[in-house]
Amino acid sequence: MAAVETVLGSVELDQLGVTLMHEHVFVLTPDVMQNYGDEWWDEDVRVADAIKKLGKLKAAGVDTIVDPTVVGLGRYLPRVQRVNAEVDINIIAATGIYTFDSIPHFFHYRGPDTLLGGPELMTEMFVRDIREGISGTSVKAAFLKCVVEEAGLTPDQARVQAAICETHRETGVPITVHTNSAHQTGRLALEFYAKHNVDLTKVVIGHAGDSNDLDYLKWIMDQGATIGCDRFGLDMFNPTADRIVTIVALCAQGYADRIVLSHDAACYMDFFSGEQAQAMLKAAAPNWHYRHITNDVLPALRERGVPEDQIKTMLVHNPRRYFTAAG
Ligand SMILES: [Zn+2]
Repeated sequence: MAAVETVLGSVELDQLGVTLMHEHVFVLTPDVMQNYGDEWWDEDVRVADAIKKLGKLKAAGVDTIVDPTVVGLGRYLPRVQRVNAEVDINIIAATGIYTFDSIPHFFHYRGPDTLLGGPELMTEMFVRDIREGISGTSVKAAFLKCVVEEAGLTPDQARVQAAICETHRETGVPITVHTNSAHQTGRLALEFYAKHNVDLTKVVIGHAGDSNDLDYLKWIMDQGATIGCDRFGLDMFNPTADRIVTIVALCAQGYADRIVLSHDAACYMDFFSGEQAQAMLKAAAPNWHYRHITNDVLPALRERGVPEDQIKTMLVHNPRRYFTAAG
């Protein structure tokens, strides 16, 4: 039976069910938290809050979240394991590096063409996360997460992307890449991946749904890749009503098998740490939470004539295909 690794172990692909393809549990900045977190972070409170929020998400009919939190976003599996022990939902963990332009100094002096040389340690880290597990936990990463932002493929970014591609070729695990839709950086990502022998059917162009440019979106899907309509509730990037019009149009043109849905939300994100920032965020983006899709988006898609089988394709079949091993 084909299966995928999750925080609680291996799960059969048939059991993934309704899947949101880009949701974080926590997004944190560990060295800031370790030095200033007393102002805003309470581990037990945040874990209890996450259990509650994910429990409500499960009750709303979502079986699985795909969590692209990696180095650069404060990935820490023991905390997620503690949450997941108390809530019945599948959480799929990622490996990779989240940077818009330059890599952490940690990597500067090691690897090919650096002062100390040696093999690409990023690749070694990613492969270890996938094959052996993440830092002494039993959790294995099941997909790769990276970024191609407005700055494009800077030398550091190209190095990360090369390590992502090498890991993909070696392990077969799929890729989710954060892109900037205003600058259509999904094009840069896919061109790079095609050149580096990535199976483009195993790529989600994250945040593509911030765009309503049907030509751009169809170009991505015509390469075989999937578009992440994955920021529902972030109306400052693209209002929900417009996101829906775009998805309705693409479904009508036969593209439902290349679309996945999500919010890019988190139980807690320290970009908005502290009560005041949290309150301002809530006022600015009231629908940016895990249940906007089940509460509002799916009813709107149905009302506009997207048939049930296409909704199931986006929520169930496409995620399952994404995690199905190639070959
Ligand atoms: Zn994200």
